[in-house]
Formats: sequence, C-alpha cells, structure tokens
Amino acid sequence: MSFNLESITRENVKGLNPYSSARDEYVSDGSKMVFLDANENPFENGVNRYPDPKQRSLKSILAKQKGIKEENILLGNGSDEVLDLLFRAFCEPRLDNVITLPPTYGMYQVLSGINTIENRTVLLDTDFQPNVDAILNTMDTNSKMLFICSPNNPSGNSISSQKIEILLENFKGLVVIDEAYIDFSSEQSWVSQLSKYPNLVITQTLSKAYGMAGIRLGICIASEQIIAVLNKIKPPYNINELTQQSAMERVSDQKSVQEEVAVILGERKLLIEALSEISFILKIYSSDANFVLAKVDDALKRYNQLLEKGIVVRNRTTQPLCENTLRFTIGTPEENTLLNTALKSLV
Ligand SMILES: *Cc1c(COP(=O)(O)O)cnc(C)c1O
Repeated sequence: MSFNLESITRENVKGLNPYSSARDEYVSDGSKMVFLDANENPFENGVNRYPDPKQRSLKSILAKQKGIKEENILLGNGSDEVLDLLFRAFCEPRLDNVITLPPTYGMYQVLSGINTIENRTVLLDTDFQPNVDAILNTMDTNSKMLFICSPNNPSGNSISSQKIEILLENFKGLVVIDEAYIDFSSEQSWVSQLSKYPNLVITQTLSKAYGMAGIRLGICIASEQIIAVLNKIKPPYNINELTQQSAMERVSDQKSVQEEVAVILGERKLLIEALSEISFILKIYSSDANFVLAKVDDALKRYNQLLEKGIVVRNRTTQPLCENTLRFTIGTPEENTLLNTALKSLV
C-alpha cells in the first residue's frame, strides 16, 4: 500500500517546531544539580517541579510491556486529548473529512465538530460489523482518518480482524483503532501489527481496565514518524506529575489489574445470565468489554425505573441501531446483585 505521511499532514504542522521548555533543554541524569532554570518555587513538596514533558520513565515501562519503543508512544490527558491531537495534526479544517462507524464512541463526532472537520458516517451492519465496501466508497482524497472502535462502545463486540486488515490495506489515511476496552477482550491488540501497517494508529487508556479514569491518561501507539508529528503539537506538560507517578505504580502492578479484570469478566458472565431471565429484556448483545448492551421493551421507562431504585445505567436508545437499548457497566459483585434485584422487581 502506498501511504505517505507527509501528504496527509497539515501544512502548518509540517513547518512547526515544538515549544522547547526548560525541562527539554536540560535533561537530568540523576546527579544532584541546582535547578534555577524554570522559575519554579525551590521548596520541595513533591510537585513544585515541572513534570517530565516526555514522560520517559512511564513510557519506558509501557514500551517494555507492549514490546515497542518509547518513540512509538505518545501520552495524552485521556484518550480524548490523543484523539484531538490526531485531528489537529492531520485534518485541515473545512477541507478534510474523517469516517466514523456509528453506533460508536461519541467523542469522534464531537471532536470533528470542534475542529470543523466533516464526519462521514457509515453505519455498522446489524451485527455491528463494518461495511467495508461502503467505507471505501465513502473515502476520497480528503479522508484523513477512519475510526474503528474495537471492542466497540456501545455495542460491546470486537470488530472482525479480517475486515480491519482490508481497511488498513486500502484506506488512504490513518486507521485509528480505539482499544479502550482491549483488556476485557479475548482478541489480540493491534499493537503487534505496528511494523506491518504504516497508517495504523492505536489508542488505549488507563480509564477502563486499569481503573484510573480519574488521573486522565490516554496512550497513542503508532509509527515513530506519526508520533513525531504529534509531539510537535502536544502541550509540553500535558501529563502532570501526580498522573505520571500513579500511572507508573499501577502499570507496574499487572497482577492487581489482571485480578480485577478477571472478577469483572466473571461478573459479566453472571450479569448476562441474570439479564436473560428478565422478561422485558428482549435481546442481549455479546460483549468483549466491561459492559453489556441489551434491548428492552421501553428503554426510557426502564431507565427511569432503575434511577428511582438508585441505579444509573446508560440509555442508548437515540443511537442508530440501538433503539430501546440500555448499556449496563459491570460493577462490583455487590452492585451487580443490587442491579439484578432491582431488575427482577420491575413491572
Ligand atoms: C471510555 C472510552 C475511552 C476513554 O477515554 P479517556 O479519555 O481515556 O478516559 C476512549 N474510547 C472509548 C471508545 C471509550 O469508551
């Protein structure tokens, strides 16, 4: 496939030089130095110094775990910042377009709106799989990115790897695979295919399986060349010191993460069994994620009934192909029991 990164990068971004901060110019080698270069308050309190703008220590752990280089990683203030950087690096406002595959994650649409980029939507089919021919027919020379969420939110299924392969081979822009839920899935991450596809971009997050939605850490994995473009436009200190520290602790403790994921997967199975006993639940979609989408008789009515019982679920009824569906996130065993009891009591 002929993929040319230069030709899809925005003109203004090509010529940019990133802001050079004090912490970029002098890199500590661990020796005791007197830091009088960044106008910080000198009295130590744990956060009086600017954080490492390149997050070297955190990236080095992540790179080792994922079998890639630190230069293949860009970190963002949540995947939402990573996705926004992709728009700003590659899509020319009012001229370029992206392709998204509803029903899917709402941020792609929001970010195209913010960045004045046309969002061309190609609906998933009724099995929530992409229509490859329709996508390729929708693509034109201004189609800079295709967003594939796998496992997909809100449907929960993984996207067929054969279809993703065809798209990677034929889409002329970047194919962004959002793997926010990959740790709950039996499918392989696309990270292992990085060297094979120069237009592959993968996003991951610590917000779901890693249990750290509050620290805001998103991960972008792509070729060194793509990451270098993103590094030109990222805010220098986008990952704060507290986030870097807690992320390092958490990703270094894979055992706890895996234990929690195992409990969530066990609970997912139990929830699906419980849902299948409820008379007003008409269909339960199979899930590779930490939530289950289900079709009910009347989504708004059931949503409000659950609210009255103190349980908040997500009503997805306005999404295409999702009429009268509710999305249930897997909670703790206790929370799931409360949900089950509440559902059984509804008339
Ligand atoms: C939750 C979610 C994210 C996470 O976004 P963060 O900004 O990293 O919290 C990304 N993509 C999808 C599809 C999600 O559902």
